[in-house]
Amino acid sequence: MNTSAPARVLIHGASGRMGRALLRLAAERGDLVVVAAVSARGAALAEAGAVPVLPASRLAEVPAFDVAVDFSLPEAFDPLLALCRERGAALVSGTTGLSGGQYSALDAAAARIAVLWAPNFSLGVAVLTELVRQAAAALPGWDADIVEAHHIHKKDAPSGTALHLGAAVEAGRGRAPHYASLRTGDIVGEHTVQLAGPGERLELVHRATNRDIFARGALEAALRMAGRGPGRVGLGALLLGGS
Ligand code: NAD
Repeated sequence: MNTSAPARVLIHGASGRMGRALLRLAAERGDLVVVAAVSARGAALAEAGAVPVLPASRLAEVPAFDVAVDFSLPEAFDPLLALCRERGAALVSGTTGLSGGQYSALDAAAARIAVLWAPNFSLGVAVLTELVRQAAAALPGWDADIVEAHHIHKKDAPSGTALHLGAAVEAGRGRAPHYASLRTGDIVGEHTVQLAGPGERLELVHRATNRDIFARGALEAALRMAGRGPGRVGLGALLLGGS
């Protein structure tokens, strides 16, 4: 933002695991203010304080906002993207399992608004992605596998983060890895990239133990995206100054 006024934020997917973390952490910050929240059917949420939580059917009624932060479901994504385009507001989305058509729509929207989609908003995974690319490039002949584990409620598999790390493997060695997914218990998110050669094995592991790390990264990104001109922005570039 060019002004010192707090960025006006819309939280989309407010009643979910991520949405509630976003509301709680946003309330602790002075540089942004949540002006509205949306969940599938609306909800009374302690984390929302005095902020209204509207049902998806009333999305068009949300007040003016600078940036939407979306952690919802693929089926909720299209109306939000359309709203951001209509209002000229930025979009920060961490929703995974989007279709090819939805990714294309994000690219198209970037001609009109600032757009950031990332499958993982943690700093550790941003750094891991670079390490994986380097390791895969240095060991092009080795087998590559990505094993990920998440809580039992996670819907998409492999996870968006696993696919993102897989793209880094492919960029490094020219071939995609194999994937294995576990859905069990309350695991927040674990990713292991394994490179295996004759007589030796390299493992690069990230373990998230608290989803606040994703919420903090997304709010920091939202602050930097508010008031930004059109274009597709990468999380690495935004948070780390890298690619
Ligand atoms: P959740 O199931 O707990 O919450 C989903 C939320 O979406 C709920 O608030 C629900 O009401 C809302 N929703 C459903 N349909 C809707 C609709 N039509 N309109 C508006 N809202 C609607 O899910 P979660 O664990 O909070 O995860 C949400 C998404 O974020 C998933 O795609 C997950 O994979 C992803 N995620 C991404 C990251 C990241 O760093 N990028 C981290 C964690 C989770």
